This record gives sequence, structure tokens and C-alpha cells, in this order.
Amino acid sequence: MQKNEIVRVTIEDIGMNGEGIGRVNGYTLFIKDAVIGDEVEAKVMKAKKSYGYARLLKIIQPSNDRVPARCAFARKCGGCQIQEMAYKKQLLYKERKVKENLERIGGFDKETIEKVMEPIVGMGASAVQQPTVEENLMSGAKSASDIVFGYRNKAQFPFGTDKEGNPITGFYAGRTHTIIANTDCALGVPQNQEILETILSFMKKYKISSYDEKTGTGLIRHVLIRYGFKTGELMVCLVINGRRIPHADILIEMLNTVEKMTSITISTNMKQTNVIMGHTFEVLWGQDHITDYIGNIKYEISPLSFYQVNPVQTEKLYGLALAYAELKGTETVWDLYCGIGTISLFLAQGAKQVYGVEIVPQAIENARRNAKCNGIENTQFYVGKAEEVLPRYYEQYAETHPRESAHADVIVVDPPRKGCDVALLETIAKMQPEKIVYVSCDSATLARDLKYLCGRGYELKKGRAVDMFPHTVHVETIIKLSRKIKENQKA
Ligand code: SAH
Repeated sequence: MQKNEIVRVTIEDIGMNGEGIGRVNGYTLFIKDAVIGDEVEAKVMKAKKSYGYARLLKIIQPSNDRVPARCAFARKCGGCQIQEMAYKKQLLYKERKVKENLERIGGFDKETIEKVMEPIVGMGASAVQQPTVEENLMSGAKSASDIVFGYRNKAQFPFGTDKEGNPITGFYAGRTHTIIANTDCALGVPQNQEILETILSFMKKYKISSYDEKTGTGLIRHVLIRYGFKTGELMVCLVINGRRIPHADILIEMLNTVEKMTSITISTNMKQTNVIMGHTFEVLWGQDHITDYIGNIKYEISPLSFYQVNPVQTEKLYGLALAYAELKGTETVWDLYCGIGTISLFLAQGAKQVYGVEIVPQAIENARRNAKCNGIENTQFYVGKAEEVLPRYYEQYAETHPRESAHADVIVVDPPRKGCDVALLETIAKMQPEKIVYVSCDSATLARDLKYLCGRGYELKKGRAVDMFPHTVHVETIIKLSRKIKENQKA
């Protein structure tokens, strides 16, 4: 196969990044935006020895699983990878991806995986689990097919400048930092567009510059928008390369015309880095947080705190966490990587005591306030790295309680994509909780960590993928591990 060669190929499989995979005389081609079952014409862009990458030129015969994209930028934008794939197929693909990682990286056998893994929890009418009427109304959906769009409660838009020197905002094109101007993301809420257009017109009027990554100059870097699906409250946080925005009072006035504006803040980030937010933030107007509910629990969310982006699916995920923990009311529970205490407070309703650990201090402030405003008194939160706080607690406990070791009945972990530090896994194994509930947004690191824990006395009991991010290749997974009963302990 040569570069620039034009080939006809039928797509037979899907790759880790959602791309179509086809074969021409045994040679494998990866073709972005092609869907399994498509017959396409494609141009070879890069040819290696046994595989290559080709660009989709024309769909000769569309797959039965191909659907029209909702967004005009679906192929260019790095946000969605599989918007043209029927939702039901997206779910099957994600379920398979999780299972493959469990097998390939985790070393679990197919039979065990098939036995423990329950069907993926999807969104919308074509999903395995049907949404409730309330969920439909909540997402503002007009029809069943609408439900898998507009699901995100959070958006972070970068700012840039077009060729004419005008400020623009939108999304990065796949694998680049080139901004595609688009204020109407199909995954977000309609209010995003109103807010973005307001900020752009303010910037034009007062000649406020966008940040330029290459030179490190310019003021406005990003805007973070959050929306409380149940409360309707809106938060806008502008990330700036400076300490203040000129004419900020006018910007505030303009943003205040958006209904339910609740919090307007700035976060200073003057570093040349890919990290979006600064370390601190300052209130320009209104509150330093918005409020939202998951189930019957009320949460305060600040700009720097993590909060799950898909509230409809989050409620199902936390419901599973609660079910997997099987609490009777007598348990001591640790919730590691607890964020604003979302899972902790869910579990506190059924446990004796819940301890939460989280690295972001503002999130822990939220967590403590959240416990208080929900009248929950059996939680305690610690700021720090989970892999430091838990081992330290474990060691110190042994010193003060010589005859017993620190005890936990259930340990929940919900780490970022890189998974758990081995120092943490080691301490968890030493503490010997009856159950471990692992919530993961990366099934590869999940599989790696499960392999470790299953080598230290645990076994896979139950698991389920939850689709928090329709139209993207990302998938959330929840797993329950139980401590193996030793032969000599069996009745
Ligand atoms: N369980 C929460 C948050 C999960 S996201 C929820 O469902 O909302 C992962 C969280 O881990 C983030 O809040 C992040 O700030 C935090 N975090 C990242 N690295 C950490 C570490 N080493 N120790 C503790 N928390 C960490």
C-alpha cells in the first residue's frame, strides 16, 4: 500500500478511538468517521508495513448503523468521535471495549467476564435501560432521539482569534489545538450558546483579546459553563491570562440578561500549559457556587470542583454504587477521590460512617458544606492525595490502637483516568474491606488495578458499563470486588 493511493474498502471493525477498520488484501486500514458496515472510498494518508491510516473520501454504500450527524462539525471536532454511529451500536461498542480491556489487560477469562458483567446502562429510548419520564423532561428533549444530545451540564470552551482578528470560541479539532468556531455544541445545553455569543460581543466591543497559546499573550483563555439540570442555575467562570478583565462591570451586566445566572467568576491562569483552570478563583458577581441535585441530595459545586457531567446517568451510576456496596447501616466506608462528596453522601444514608478523601481543597470545602446542608452527620472529609492520606491513616491507627488495625467494610474508589497509585492499592489490600467498589472512567487502568487487587485476595463479583458520554468513545465502568473467603474459613 502506498501513500495517496485511493482504495475501496468495507468497514469490518472499530478501533479504540472510534475509527473504522477495514482490510484491503490483508492490509489493515484505520479510517476515521467510517462506521462498521460502510463501504467507502478512502485515500491512504500514512502507510506502515502492515497497517495504515486513510481519510474517508466518499461513502459508497452506507451501513445500516449509520445515522446523520446532528452537528455540522461532527467530523472535524475532537469532542465527538462516533456521532454518526447509531446509539445502540455505540453502546455495544463500549460494552465490548470494557470487556476486551478486562480480558487483555486484567487477565480475566472470558467466562468470568461474561458471568459478572451486566448489560451497559445507556441513555434514551434505544438504550438497554429506558429513561424515566422525569429524565426526558429534565433533558428538555422533544423526542426520544433527542435524549442522547444536550446531556452535558458542563462545557469548557477555548478562545482564539480568526484570520480577520476577531475573537472566536468553539472546540479543538481532533488531536490539535486549532479552534473550530462553533458556539452550538450538540452535547451541551442551549444556554451555552447565549453565554458564548454574549462574551464574544463584549470582547469585540471593548477590544478584549483572546489568549494565544504560541506567544503566551492575550487575555481570555477559556470559559467554563455549568448548568444545574434540576435547579436551572448557571455558572460562568472565565479563565484569564491576567488578574482582571477591563470593563468587567459591563460584562457582568450583559451576562445577567441570561436567565438564572447565579455565579460569575474569574480564574487566573498565567502559565503556558494545557491545564485549563487556574488554582484559585475570584467571584465577580453572585455566588461562588451553583447548586444541583442528584437523587434527593443537594450539592454545591464550585468552579474548581469535579462534578459528573451527565446528571441523568450519574444518578444511575451512584445508584449502582449504593447497590454494590450492599450497606446495612453498620458499615465504615471510605470514598477515595470523593470530589464534592457526591458518592460519600449517597452512601452515608445507608452506612454508619463515611470518610472521603480528595486532592482539591475547594472540593472538600464543598463536600463539608454539602454534608451539612443535607443534614448528614456521619461523614468526615480529608484533603490530600488518596495514596498518602489512607496509608498514613492506616499506620497511625495501628500506633494508637495497638491491638487492631484500621478497619473498613467497604472502600469506594473513583480515580481520574490514570487509575489508582499502587501505594493506595496496597493499603486497601492490607485493610481487607469486605467489598471494594471501583468506579472508573478508563477501563484500561481499571483492568490493571483489578488485576492487582485480585492478586491480593479479591474476586470480581459484578460489573457494569454506564454510558455517561454518548457520541464519544469514553465509557464509565463500575465494578464490585469481594474479599475471597479462604478455604479454611468456609463453613
Ligand atoms: N467521586 C467523585 C469525583 C470523581 S473524579 C464524583 O463522582 O463526583 C476524580 C476526583 O479525584 C477529582 O475530584 C480529582 O480532583 C480527584 N483526585 C485526583 N487525583 C487525586 C489523588 N491522587 N488523590 C485524591 N483525589 C484525587
